[in-house]
Amino acid sequence: MTRPAAGPAPRALVIEDDETLGRELAAGLSVHGYETDWSRTGADGVAHADRNRPDVIILDLGLPDQDGIDVARRLRRSRPEVLLVILTARDADMDVVVGLDAGADDYLTKPVGLTVLLARLRAHLRSRPPALDTQPLIVGQLRIDVAARTCALAGSRVDLRTKEFDLLVTLAAGAGTALSREDLMSLVWDENWFGSTKTLDVTMAALRRSLHSVADATGVAPPTITTLRGHGYRMEAKPDP
Ligand code: CA
Repeated sequence: MTRPAAGPAPRALVIEDDETLGRELAAGLSVHGYETDWSRTGADGVAHADRNRPDVIILDLGLPDQDGIDVARRLRRSRPEVLLVILTARDADMDVVVGLDAGADDYLTKPVGLTVLLARLRAHLRSRPPALDTQPLIVGQLRIDVAARTCALAGSRVDLRTKEFDLLVTLAAGAGTALSREDLMSLVWDENWFGSTKTLDVTMAALRRSLHSVADATGVAPPTITTLRGHGYRMEAKPDP
């Protein structure tokens, strides 16, 4: 796992009762360098926030035991400095107003892609103390500035389409780790994807072409992306010997 170089990993708490979404959010945040915990009820989430002092809380409003708005108010009272993002299926304007009044820093309506959530977290964290800032991802001679959405191999810029860039960031953030096709689909495209993963193969082929055309020009090899048959892909953390 390649972590941002400076500072401790930010701690994230997901409060979400939906098993699939909760698991995917927790996994996605972990892959992107957050130390992540997951609570399935409001009561557990509040207790967890008091105990473990997360930097970021992703809060679902429709919880089995308490109204999420009440949970948001309690979290804000006990943790005035936490970055609190409400994630919910409710999207009426009044809900947004009530959520923000309850102390949320941001409000995202489901379904939301992980890429969007991460981008919003980065934007909020950037305006906070530097320990939580996002550092460039560096794997071998590849440098990715996630915030600026730029990528360079040995100093030469690699131009990538949106999803190629998101795929590269996901692979690089988990360098050395095998990522399944399903994980990549949910992390890069949407947590609610269904059906074919062909779009993954097409995007991967385009990403490899872009990296290799810059590699040909610079004479510097990009990090190897290994195809794991029947499973997925892994970006190698160390260059080939
Ligand atoms: Ca829910």
